[in-house]
Amino acid sequence: MLITVAFSLSAGIAMNFKPPTSAESLRAIGSTKGLSEIFKKALEPGENFEPVPVPEQGDWLAVHPETGQSFDEFVGRKPNRPDKSRNKIYLQPLGKFPKYKIPLIRRLQEYASAYFGMQVQVLEHIDLSKQTLTTRINPYIQNRQILTSDVLALLKKKLPPDAFCILAVTMEDLYPQASWNFVFGQASLRERAGVYSFARYDPDFYGQKRGKDYEKILLRRSCKVLAHEISHMFGLEHCIYFKCVLNGSNHLKESDSRPMHLCPVCLHKLQYSIGFDVVDRYVMLLQFYKKAGFDDEAQWTTERLKWILGAEKAKAIIEQKSEQ
Ligand SMILES: [Zn+2]
Ligand SMILES: [Zn+2]
Repeated sequence: MLITVAFSLSAGIAMNFKPPTSAESLRAIGSTKGLSEIFKKALEPGENFEPVPVPEQGDWLAVHPETGQSFDEFVGRKPNRPDKSRNKIYLQPLGKFPKYKIPLIRRLQEYASAYFGMQVQVLEHIDLSKQTLTTRINPYIQNRQILTSDVLALLKKKLPPDAFCILAVTMEDLYPQASWNFVFGQASLRERAGVYSFARYDPDFYGQKRGKDYEKILLRRSCKVLAHEISHMFGLEHCIYFKCVLNGSNHLKESDSRPMHLCPVCLHKLQYSIGFDVVDRYVMLLQFYKKAGFDDEAQWTTERLKWILGAEKAKAIIEQKSEQ
């Protein structure tokens, strides 16, 4: 996303972010009238969600004092929703992915399909040597970078007729225009296309030593940005209510401190668009987190299932699914 800085028009002083009260956050979840008892429970915060942290200097909300998007505001904006003809998420690898022990692109496909409860297809990678995408050598760190607008134009041409959206993912570095140093990603929501780079999620990029867990860290960061960015494609704006994967982020430390899960406001929005079963979704995510070794998210998801179903029933469902 392109970054802008908001100033108060009257005084010319940067506005401060005003954290919502807990009543405002509850209201933002929207009415649960007419929903199933299970889904109603899944939209009660209970003890599993913390309020959004007070931003420190340099954090996203200190620089961008957003006012939030409630469930009702989201619905009122009539966002794109998957339908009979456009119902698949496409991942388009841009260039080759280096041979990690963890097959990153396949794991991202698995994750997105559990996260959104939709079919996710990986396309044949784009061979950069055969493409006429504009590239440059970054003047500061001398690495190759690809111009995002060229990628978006290419994706627009390639958009499959049944695509809800197409996301190019790459280990190459990106830039949005000559005056910028770099960008993590950029999307055109109207054209249903986006491009995201994971290059800067690898310590090697900064010339730092890769720790023994670096592949797990890379996978975790990439999963998180994928969930965040694809959610934007569904019309979800940044979340200011709870700690949530949809919180904005201005730097790596802030992204790393974001959880992988959706808060009740954002879960309500995504379920409204896609219509998945919330329990099935949590069970699939739990299996993914266990396999990936994301112990904290596995623990959180187990606790959340217990909150929704009660301890006995949650245990039975988790055991039943892990035997399948
Ligand atoms: Zn965002
Ligand atoms: Zn949220």
